[in-house]
Amino acid sequence: MTPALELIGISKSFDGFMALSAVDFAVGYGEVHALLGENGAGKSTLMNVAAGLYAPDAGQIRINGAPVAIRGPLDAKAASVGMVHQHFKLVRPFTALENILLSDRRGSYSRGLKEIAAEVRRHCEALGFEVDLDKPVGMLSIAEQQRIEILKVLVGGARILILDEPTAVLSDQESDRLLRTVRSIAARGTAVVLVTHKLGEVIAHADRVTVMRGGRTIATADPRTVSIPELTQMIVGSAVTEVPAPSQNIGGPLLTVAELRGARSDGHVALSGASFTVRSGEIYGIAGVGGNGQTELAEILMGVRRPLSGRIDLAGADEVTADGPQQRRARGLAFIPADRHTWGLAGGLSVAENFAVAGVLAGKYGSPIRVDTGAIRAATRDAVEAFDVQGVRGPGQKAALLSGGNAQKLVIAREFSGSPRVVLAHSPSRGLDVRASAAVHDRLRTARDAGAGVLLISEDLDEILLLADRVGVMNRGKISAEFAAPCDRHAIGRALVHHG
Ligand code: ADP
Ligand code: MG
Repeated sequence: MTPALELIGISKSFDGFMALSAVDFAVGYGEVHALLGENGAGKSTLMNVAAGLYAPDAGQIRINGAPVAIRGPLDAKAASVGMVHQHFKLVRPFTALENILLSDRRGSYSRGLKEIAAEVRRHCEALGFEVDLDKPVGMLSIAEQQRIEILKVLVGGARILILDEPTAVLSDQESDRLLRTVRSIAARGTAVVLVTHKLGEVIAHADRVTVMRGGRTIATADPRTVSIPELTQMIVGSAVTEVPAPSQNIGGPLLTVAELRGARSDGHVALSGASFTVRSGEIYGIAGVGGNGQTELAEILMGVRRPLSGRIDLAGADEVTADGPQQRRARGLAFIPADRHTWGLAGGLSVAENFAVAGVLAGKYGSPIRVDTGAIRAATRDAVEAFDVQGVRGPGQKAALLSGGNAQKLVIAREFSGSPRVVLAHSPSRGLDVRASAAVHDRLRTARDAGAGVLLISEDLDEILLLADRVGVMNRGKISAEFAAPCDRHAIGRALVHHG
């Protein structure tokens, strides 16, 4: 196999922190090479070096066997390296074609648009892509935006395509579709680097896999001959297995949801009379196929969306239906939202600011106009330590620099710092690797064992079965069936797809 891209002995540090230590990596034309590792392993940093976003401190980059100097994204492009980042870099009011034109300046606007349109359509046809090229990209789904990013790179002439955690933002079905497309891109002779932390994807879709841990390459292997336990061992350094640990002590109701109805922003009634109760000392899991009202339920419970009718009571006595998020927090509700970046953290603010915001509003650090910043920094350091948030060099570091798992740990550290009575966790381990998921699950069990009621909304049936003491199946906007642990996976599976 011709080596398309080779990274040899690449090192990179940030403020004295070694993110990459003498890393080697190579990908060949026609190959899908998976780059696997936990959050914070250094995968994105390594690929950002190849894409010209970071200058390495040491090491060499070779394209087609010859050393090249990649000093910026334009050099990378000239070397036919294209990368699709975890956070898309699209201009939302512009159409897909305009976005692609923007990254590929040629001639006048109208001539460029015409030329590009023809080229884009050719790629779409070859890859079976369905994209609305003339709508503002801000109005398109995440999966469509991702296809536009891929088109942008391919139209730009990339023969080495790097996809950074492309499936982290997609549903299972969309992921499947994307990964099949990735195969056909490789089949046309492109070298593909698939960055992921999902073992299943590697086994099913990659020709080779390189595992990174702690800024080093651990091994490169053939996914057809290496076993899942072996790979897991390489990723985490030791085996992680989770086992169910049912509640020992279930008490009275803490959260009662009655006949809740709610609509999406487009008016569609997504919640059609959901009723359930979460008790002290239990994890109540809501299982369901995505799009059955889970998102609307979570938003209404957080207080960021108003219900059409129904009521929400906390601890049997207080009705909170009309309260905003802040009042709900004050009454003991904590939220671990599915979309960390929209509702969970403010990336531009520091780790300390993100950690302390709820406490400041609750008056925990003195009056809001004279907050005790020393106390905030100390509390942040303690929480970072207690919740094992990795990659924090100090309380002043920007939250946006945290990897997915560590961002989630920071949200959890903040939400659990007030000893909540009820915890709403929506897809809390989505996008996290095995060890970070296990840590998040552990925290939910600890809260439950301390007497909190935990509401777990998840499309991942394995996660529900692992954690829930009771399960409600959400189907077309209501709870259509309930089960108590130990649950029968097949019975739940049938309830998930039953349309009666
Ligand atoms: P991965 O993609 O494998 O999850 P990253 O490459 O994003 O990991 O991060 C590796 C380490 O480098 C992490 O500890 C992360 O916090 C750190 N890091 C990444 N980018 C920066 C940056 N621009 N400044 C400081 N630290 C960074
Ligand atoms: Mg990354």
